[in-house]
Amino acid sequence: MQMISPVQFFKSLPPKQCTECGDNIVEQAESYLLECDRCLSKKDE
Ligand SMILES: [Zn+2]
Repeated sequence: MQMISPVQFFKSLPPKQCTECGDNIVEQAESYLLECDRCLSKKDE
């Protein structure tokens, strides 16, 4: 039986990638954004 700690589980998840430019997104708590800050700020104009 293999025990996987929650920390290891989250570390094993692939990083999110921006749907616009493909950059990895730094995960933030309660963040459901699909785009990186750079692309979001572009759209803000
Ligand atoms: Zn982006």
